[in-house]
This record gives sequence, C-alpha cells and structure tokens, in this order.
Amino acid sequence: MSETSDTLFSKIIRREIPADIVYEDDLAIAFKDIHPQAPVHILVIPKQPIAKLSDAESQDHALMGHLLLTAKRVAEQAGLTNGYRVVINTGSDGGQTVYHLHLHILGGRQMSWPPG
Ligand code: AMP
Repeated sequence: MSETSDTLFSKIIRREIPADIVYEDDLAIAFKDIHPQAPVHILVIPKQPIAKLSDAESQDHALMGHLLLTAKRVAEQAGLTNGYRVVINTGSDGGQTVYHLHLHILGGRQMSWPPG
C-alpha cells in the first residue's frame, strides 16, 4: 500500500469500513487485526493520522505515551496476564504496509525471537 494521508485505518475511524473495535477514546482507537498472527492480535492507532513512527515529532510526545498506555490497557482488557508483545513496524524495511501509525498487540501464545 502506498504512503498516503488517508488510509483504510482512517476509514475505520470514520466508520466507513467495518472493524471489530475493542476500545476508543478521544485520541486513540483499538480494533482486532483482520489477519491475526496470534490468538490475540489487536491494533492501537491514533486518531491523528501520523503515517509512521519516524514521522512523529516532539510535540506528539503525549500522544505517543498515550498510545503505549492504551496498549497496556487493551492488553489487560484482553486478559493477557501472562505477557504480550507490542510491535511498531516502521517504513519499508520495518515491514509496514498501512501508513497510519499503529501498535500491534500480540498475545495468547509464546512469542519467538528474533522476528522474521
Ligand atoms: P503493518 O504491516 O505493520 O503495516 O500492519 C498492518 C496490519 O493491518 C496487518 O496486520 C493487517 O492484517 C491489518 N489490517 C489490514 N486491513 C485491516 C482491516 N480492514 N481491519 C483490521 N486490520 C487490518
């Protein structure tokens, strides 16, 4: 997918395409990944359409902290008491395919390292 300001995640925020939304507040929304890579696979995204982590600015520091704390909250809500992984794929080498910043929360199985 090319890097544009309006992605399918913006369409999910605007309810133009369906998603299984598990959390929402003024700044962020979380929904289940359509191709889950683990028993629990949830994406946390800012409502502000920052394309990728490397585009975040110092003025976004509160939002970045909010996204991490939202990931913690959503993981707790999903019952991931035994741990989980949070991933931010960034840019081409990072394997990013949707250019709207998102945190993957993966859990419900043992993760391996290093990732592919
Ligand atoms: P990334 O490769 O890090 O950019 O992750 C993009 C993620 O978005 C992938 O895990 C996809 O499965 C997921 N995805 C793509 N389209 C949708 C959708 N309509 N609803 C939920 N997740 C999606």
